[in-house]
Parts: sequence; C-alpha cells; structure tokens
Amino acid sequence: MYNTRHYEWTLQQGFRYRVLLATKSRRNHRQRASGQRGKVFDDHLPLAVPLSDMKRVIMHPIFKIWQESWSQQLDNKLHSVKPVIGAWPVMPMRRTDVKLTRLRIGHTRFTHRHLLFGERAPECPSCNVSYTVHHILIDCPVFNHHRITFFHKSVLTLSDLVGESLHQNLFAFIKKIGFLYLI
Ligand SMILES: [Zn+2]
Repeated sequence: MYNTRHYEWTLQQGFRYRVLLATKSRRNHRQRASGQRGKVFDDHLPLAVPLSDMKRVIMHPIFKIWQESWSQQLDNKLHSVKPVIGAWPVMPMRRTDVKLTRLRIGHTRFTHRHLLFGERAPECPSCNVSYTVHHILIDCPVFNHHRITFFHKSVLTLSDLVGESLHQNLFAFIKKIGFLYLI
C-alpha cells in the first residue's frame, strides 16, 4: 500500500538512479579518455528506469491521496458531476467543449454575467429562484415536457446529463429551451 513514506522512498530511489547513471557516465568518459578497456562498470549498476514507469509509480499515490480528499467533499457542487477524479474525453469541437465545461462547473454567461455588471441575479419567473445551471437543466418544471421529449424522463441528475458520458440529446435540449447561445 502506498503512503507518503513510500512516495518519498520512490523519489529517493529515482534520485539514486540518476546519481548512479551520472557516475557511470563519468567513469566511462574517463575510461575512454585514458584509453582504458577491460573492466566494465555497467554490470553491477541498476538499469535505468523508463520515465513512464517512474511517473506511474509517483502518480499513483498522489491520485490516491487526491481521491480520498475529494471523496470527503460531498458538499462541493462539482462532486456530484465528477465523483472520480481523472481526465475526461475532450469534445472534438472546441466551442462545444467549452460550453460543456461551463455546464459542468455551473458557470455560464447567463447565470453569472450579473456579477461582472453589478446587476441583480436573473430569476426564474415561474419558480422565483435565481437561475442556476442546475435549475435550468434539472429542477425547473417549465422544461419538464422538453426533458421527457429529449431524455424520456423528467427526473434527472446533473451526472445523467453532463457526467463523463454526456447525454447524446443534451445539446438538442438546451438548444430547444433557448439556453445554448447563452452559455
Ligand atoms: Zn424555474
């Protein structure tokens, strides 16, 4: 099991390898310079470790610690969208990828521009609450019939729509309700 001590040990080992390789290189250089042959210094030295292997060994405990910390932050609104840390696929179109990221983090021009202009937060006239991405995509009953049309149900979670595998009808839905170009 990896822990901080193991991580430090790994770094120390990585450093030792680098020192040994540098020493070997200097010895060989001196040998060549003095015309010596014969004794080979390489045999008893450890082999070089590929960078990819070292990266994996170092990153594994870091990700484990990071995940343990993230798993405790259940109140963080981003947690429900992405409970497991790691890289997600990128959309082929940059503009679409930006919109998707904004939906995932809950920051869009429509819901947050008032902060820049010192205006009042926009409110849903039907529910009398401030507009949020969560309200628009999940909560607001005004869009229930569109949810049923595009997602075949009206009770959804953010993870259903903008999780790692986003719903295939998400962009059709937000276009239909007029939110697409306000993101
Ligand atoms: Zn509403």
